[in-house]
Amino acid sequence: MFGGARRITALTGAGVSTASGIPDFRGPNGVWTRNPAAQRLSDIDSYVADPQVREQAWRSRAEHPAWTAEPNAAHRAFVDLDRSGRLRALLTQNIDELHQRAGLDRDQVVELHGTIFQVVCLDCGAVGPMSAALERVAAGEADPPCRSCGGILKSATISFGQSLDPDVIRAAQCAALDCDLFLAAGTSLTVHPAAGLAELAVKAGAELVICNAEPTPYDELAAAVLREPLVEVLPELVAAPLTEPTRP
Ligand code: NAD
Ligand code: ZN
Repeated sequence: MFGGARRITALTGAGVSTASGIPDFRGPNGVWTRNPAAQRLSDIDSYVADPQVREQAWRSRAEHPAWTAEPNAAHRAFVDLDRSGRLRALLTQNIDELHQRAGLDRDQVVELHGTIFQVVCLDCGAVGPMSAALERVAAGEADPPCRSCGGILKSATISFGQSLDPDVIRAAQCAALDCDLFLAAGTSLTVHPAAGLAELAVKAGAELVICNAEPTPYDELAAAVLREPLVEVLPELVAAPLTEPTRP
């Protein structure tokens, strides 16, 4: 399938981590599919305006499956791809750090939507570990304020209504423009600007391969669409022997 590709940029989404026990948002068992009201917790305006939303968000952070999840075979497939010298970059919408835990170098991973392992102050920008914030929540602070300025603390993840870090989006665009194959895996390709990276890569001449259980808006642009479970399909793709490029 991508035997001929030598510079692969991958874009991953929540579907890569479902086999690790972290539900996606929009799949059949997704958090928002089962409870559409939960979207409010991911909206920056509600978070800033409503202390009750923040309290609920901290409670749900404390229970997040990412704290105990382990990388799965799909995460490990990207490590193998990197070791074979073909991974240009891994762009992820995931906030669970499982790609890094599986063994990818931190500088190979572009976290488009941040990480749940850190918190940031929305007022002064101070960054700190999530573990310390959750200890304060467990000790009784329902909505722990920033220790430096008293401002609103939030997980260092991108909520709806927040802009991506310009350096991060630039790095992702460079990797999309500089690949011969763009692999989108476990993402519904509905969140922008991340989803638009697939089209950017195709316009720059890359082949697009989509591995996702459900249809995406970009399937028609793809050279191949694979719907099998990622823990099966990704290791197979990576293990396929190198062949000559199919394009000049
Ligand atoms: P999404 O929920 O919109 O789409 C996930 C897609 O993965 C679905 O189309 C689903 O059919 C597919 N999928 C699920 N399990 C699969 C499997 N085992 N094999 C093949 N396909 C599978 O997720 P998204 O596109 O990443 O966008 C959601 C947003 O939510 C992102 O912004 C992301 O930051 C955030 N999010 C992150 C996590 C995480 O870090 N693990 C979890 C949920 C949501
Ligand atoms: Zn602050």
